[in-house]
Amino acid sequence: MVDNSSPDNRRVMVIGLDGATFKLIRPWIEDGTMPTLRRLMKKGASGVLTTTLPPISSSAWASFATGKNPGKHGLVDFVHPRENSYQISIVSPQQRGSKAIWNLLSDQGRKVGIVGMPVTYPPEEVNGYMISDFLTPSASDDYTYPLSLRDELERAVGGFPLLPDERYRSTKFTDRFIADMVTDVERRLEGALYLLDNKEWDFFFLLFWSSDMLQHETWRLLDESHPEHDPQAAEQYRGLVVDFHRRLDDAVGRLLAKVGPEDLVVVMSDHGFGPVHSFFLVNNWLREIGLLKLKRRPLTRLKYTVFKLGFTPLGVFSLVKAMRLGFLRRRFRFQRGGGLMKRLFLSFDDVDWPRTKAFAVGSFGQIYINQTGKRPQGNVQPGKEYQDLREEIATRALEIRDPRTGESVVERVYLREELYSGALLEKAPDLVLQSRNWEYMAFGHADFGASHIVEPIFGMSGHHRPDGVVFLAGEGIKEGAKLEGASIMDLAPTILYSMGISVPSDMDGRVLSEAFTAEFLSKVKVEYSDESTDREVGRDDYSEDDEEEIRERLRGLGYVG
Ligand SMILES: [Zn+2]
Repeated sequence: MVDNSSPDNRRVMVIGLDGATFKLIRPWIEDGTMPTLRRLMKKGASGVLTTTLPPISSSAWASFATGKNPGKHGLVDFVHPRENSYQISIVSPQQRGSKAIWNLLSDQGRKVGIVGMPVTYPPEEVNGYMISDFLTPSASDDYTYPLSLRDELERAVGGFPLLPDERYRSTKFTDRFIADMVTDVERRLEGALYLLDNKEWDFFFLLFWSSDMLQHETWRLLDESHPEHDPQAAEQYRGLVVDFHRRLDDAVGRLLAKVGPEDLVVVMSDHGFGPVHSFFLVNNWLREIGLLKLKRRPLTRLKYTVFKLGFTPLGVFSLVKAMRLGFLRRRFRFQRGGGLMKRLFLSFDDVDWPRTKAFAVGSFGQIYINQTGKRPQGNVQPGKEYQDLREEIATRALEIRDPRTGESVVERVYLREELYSGALLEKAPDLVLQSRNWEYMAFGHADFGASHIVEPIFGMSGHHRPDGVVFLAGEGIKEGAKLEGASIMDLAPTILYSMGISVPSDMDGRVLSEAFTAEFLSKVKVEYSDESTDREVGRDDYSEDDEEEIRERLRGLGYVG
């Protein structure tokens, strides 16, 4: 006889709302715009979900999937300097140094369905199915496991959307952009409902990515204190932003209709959100304080001269924007980074590596030290010289002032070991500069962006924050419980526990026992397993062409400067 109340039969559905924050959704939960989340909050446990620092989707979702900090799983960003190189690489699932929850559940014979999880191209072989994410190169058709699923979805629902149509992003056609985000939600929902109705599953994950894109683009409409707030545009489009969230909530509701009362439901984000006002050009700052040097060759000098005159990627983008030449900006932006951009503007090709001590990569102030033995032309000795240099950078970063206001730009500096621990620590940036109120977005890499250290933001108005959201509901979850101090690393242990599976003790997260009723806790004990969930790290897996395309896509999403 099957005991349906046993956790062994319990299914878990996780719905990711990328970038969702209570700052926006709490009022909509309260006023009934988002009735599904309102019901979840009433019926289950909910609260702020603290994410990885810096709050980067690739890193945060990997911490969700592994229950570990990025020093153990190794996915510290979407982009990182390749080992023993200055070349910037895109992360791939082969670089994840830990089993993910779908691997662990597959090993246990449970059926999994993983859809749209960041950094899952190429898809892994699982006991069930997997559909890759928005990092899938556009020419690739091997984005499903099993491969036959792609054609099946094509026939059944006209294919599964890997990423929202973003052709109207950063254009004046805000209404069309929002309409495309709504379309993405609906197509994803349709695909997911087909999968739920036709495939067996014990663990199902679906990510809505459009909520993140929408907030990057439209934060200024909702936030009256944003320097780019335009009351007229806000009046015109605010209703559409609210409507997007109404439909997103409705989609969540229709997915939840597929679970039984004994199942566990998790609705969560990977990070929160807030306004971003300015770019912080970290490599320009490193150059100004003499830690990054440019080559003395004529071409670099020429580029530097015109750079000082304002011929910079940001300068050109602004000009094109001012002239309302959206189509040109788009073509320009999507030129291959290896080609035109590098030929015209200052880039890492112009950096004199033997004389450079530090460089920045990424959009959250990640700084890498040019260390001897670690980089081909490294010249900072490990040990005292390395420590002293980090101290110097930290001290000087806190002294940076925004020339426009005289206020500080950096409010906190993290040394690598304050953020990460584990076998893959060496991959992580050596320092991370956290900007004041998170209102500056670091312009990390390659093009040196603009000739200043600080520039007004454009192309987006919102960016990530560490405070995401989580809702848990289902049998054994306390009604109306408020969670405090939950971390994104706690979800994998919590989900395994709720399914009656022992929790690997090498996970950094803990079981969120405060979310469960006393009755459930007494019936199901937390058990641990000492078996390691580490796994071998493989090579980078994108071809150079694919990598270039993905880099441009990430650039558009604000992940690569
Ligand atoms: Zn984002």
